[in-house]
Amino acid sequence: MKKILITGAAGFLGSHLCDRFVEEGYHVIGMDNLITGDLKNIAHLFPLEHFEFYHHDVTTFVHVPGNLDYILHFASPASPIDYLKIPIQTLKVGSLGTLNLLGLAKEKKARILVASTSEVYGDPLVHPQNEEYYGNVSPVGPRGVYDEAKRFMESLTMAYHRFHGLETRIVRIFNTYGPRMRLNDGRVVPAFMGQALRGEDLTVFGDGSQTRSFCYIDDMVEGIYRLLFSEYPEPLNIGNPKETTIKEFAEEIIALTGTEQKVIYKPLPKDDPTQRKPDITKAREILGWEPKVDRSEGLKIVYDYFKSLTPEELQKKEHRDFSSK
Ligand code: UDP
Repeated sequence: MKKILITGAAGFLGSHLCDRFVEEGYHVIGMDNLITGDLKNIAHLFPLEHFEFYHHDVTTFVHVPGNLDYILHFASPASPIDYLKIPIQTLKVGSLGTLNLLGLAKEKKARILVASTSEVYGDPLVHPQNEEYYGNVSPVGPRGVYDEAKRFMESLTMAYHRFHGLETRIVRIFNTYGPRMRLNDGRVVPAFMGQALRGEDLTVFGDGSQTRSFCYIDDMVEGIYRLLFSEYPEPLNIGNPKETTIKEFAEEIIALTGTEQKVIYKPLPKDDPTQRKPDITKAREILGWEPKVDRSEGLKIVYDYFKSLTPEELQKKEHRDFSSK
């Protein structure tokens, strides 16, 4: 039985990856320091014989006994609200955490896939973003702690690949949504859905002309799964190229939820990218992958998930008070 270590296992992406690898018959070790993760996301896996959980912070030495075949490094705060609240941890997990896991991969002769992000493109001047684009990132802006940590992660990973011949994979993840997102992490999908369910107006930042492209979690997991087993060591975009403005997106959520709410406007946070859409030509060619789930279908599933939460969970609001800074 193959063994895989998944860091950030109690998070949104990490927990769905744990599910997938358990289903595929792997022995899964989930690791998380639970700063932003939630054990509820993986509680259903605890009774399984081939799932283990290590409560550990990967920015300190990572020990895993015995053999290890694969590592997925998905530990990191990943929403603007989180990495503004915990900027140092964000920098450490992308840098020191990645270093420790690359070291572990080398020791165990394991293949490692690291989770990078469309944020490496910053506020992009090339549209849609292809993997060759170097990006337009402010190292000292509010998003710099995340963007630069991930850029360093990519650089370190390629160095281990080139210098040590380590088997590495780098996925650049674009906006992803699905069940288990935190209602209060400030990201736009849970923010709008929470507002609709609480009967509040939907807060669009800026004039809402900024664009994003949202990928459903099952499509994302499939893309990551295929990338891990491909022979492609360069960074690869995974995301849904269907682009929307945030204003249109708010209207789509209002229509979906059948609520009476209006859209209200708030100041645009600093360095909020004006446009984002993945060029997935490479993923199509190399992995034979493309997203299958339509936004209307995916959003319906997520809305039903949020509707199933308790009133207490729903009352947790986002605290995005940096918006005007
Ligand atoms: N956004 C918004 N209202 C909210 C939360 C987010 O208009 O209540 C906007 C945000 O300014 C950004 C977009 O939605 O332009 C996506 O934000 P998110 O935090 O989900 O992801 P990211 O900016 O990292 O793509």
